[in-house]
Amino acid sequence: MSTHLLHRAIHGHLPTAVGGKGIELFDAEGNVYIDASGGAAVSCLGHGHPAVIDALHKQLDRLAYAHTGFFTTEPAEQLADLLVRNAPAGLDHVYLVSGGSEAVEAAIKMARQYFVETNQPRRRHIIARRQSYHGNTLGALAAGGNEWRRTQFQPLLINTHHIDPCFAYRMQQVGESDEVYAARAAQQLEDKILELGADEVIAFIAEPVVGATAGAVPSVGDYFKRIREICDRYGVLLILDEVMCGMGRTGTLHACEQDGIAPDLMTVAKGLGGGYQPVGAVLLSGKIFDAFANGSGFFQHGHTYMGHPMAAAAGLAVQQTIERESLLANVVAMGNELERQLVERLGNDRHVGDIRGRGLFRGIELVADRATKQPFDPALKLHARIKKEALKRGLIVYPMGGTIDGVQGDHVLLAPPFIVDRNDVERIVERLADAI
Ligand code: PMP
Repeated sequence: MSTHLLHRAIHGHLPTAVGGKGIELFDAEGNVYIDASGGAAVSCLGHGHPAVIDALHKQLDRLAYAHTGFFTTEPAEQLADLLVRNAPAGLDHVYLVSGGSEAVEAAIKMARQYFVETNQPRRRHIIARRQSYHGNTLGALAAGGNEWRRTQFQPLLINTHHIDPCFAYRMQQVGESDEVYAARAAQQLEDKILELGADEVIAFIAEPVVGATAGAVPSVGDYFKRIREICDRYGVLLILDEVMCGMGRTGTLHACEQDGIAPDLMTVAKGLGGGYQPVGAVLLSGKIFDAFANGSGFFQHGHTYMGHPMAAAAGLAVQQTIERESLLANVVAMGNELERQLVERLGNDRHVGDIRGRGLFRGIELVADRATKQPFDPALKLHARIKKEALKRGLIVYPMGGTIDGVQGDHVLLAPPFIVDRNDVERIVERLADAI
């Protein structure tokens, strides 16, 4: 084992992954794991899908790389067309990048440049939510709310301000209806905009269903409709970060469809290429594109590997396969089945405080006391222990826990590939229940 590979050296023992087929991963010691988190909500088609492998072989034979400053390529053009054909209303241009953080970084810069192009340079603030993760590059890190990730890199480069956490179920006050809770949460955005100056805010960024930091927490009531209205009232751009919850994961291609709104900018990655290649994208509205086209004529950004033909070919093949095999219907059906089995198996467990999520994006929150929702002592690192116990049972789950921005708790995120059947769901729930 190499001690030169940083992540390996820091983690200590890590199994060596040597193969994968369908929903399973294999390590060098012959262990077989069900990939019930799809990596981190990445592997939507499972491993070794022949249609994707075939598309990648063909692309590799034809052309592996061409710089976007000199050339366009067929897979990049076709992927952009596919993304726009299925995009939320008004998003009619695509900027291809290599992953989620890059997409967030580009979206924030697009939002900023939009206001420069339209002669509103005073706008300089970004508002986000405390319980959020938007990536690890410096701009995306500044947008994310995780204090423990941010602290040592302060002062961060962009002016970000955070409002209350997402809809962590414990934030709802006793007896409060969803509508009252949604209105109270959305009001925080308006209050923050007014505090910063109505014409000084660039954008509000949020995950429609909060993934890594909170464990598949959707909003309630008409929260996002209210957010959309507030953004429009003050000319603030709405960026939805669908890097984790998007591209079919929640049962609709875009999670925001279920909230009945469309953003001005949307980031996607992870499931876009299903893990076959690193690929991400920003979808942007005509309004933003026109400001660039009629203004300076270009977007002041760029990465060497953006629009990479191999990455675009993977994204295209993965998305075409999802369409051809009608896999979103399976996400809805198996998502409901997963919820049903989780509730049946764990719903009465005295340490399960909440089971939530949409589609094949589900979170299980663990609490010391189910009646009071009292979380476990963070020192127990329960989430990490469950990850370990699950691995021993051949199950990969995505854990998160401790105290994140005022919300203490342990949760496990499940995000299995879209190809799971009832029997797979049963095996996942069985092993998870056993591990817990
Ligand atoms: N945004 C969200 C919502 C994410 O979940 C992630 C990754 N977990 C990112 C951005 C960053 O993506 P990447 O790790 O591909 O840079």
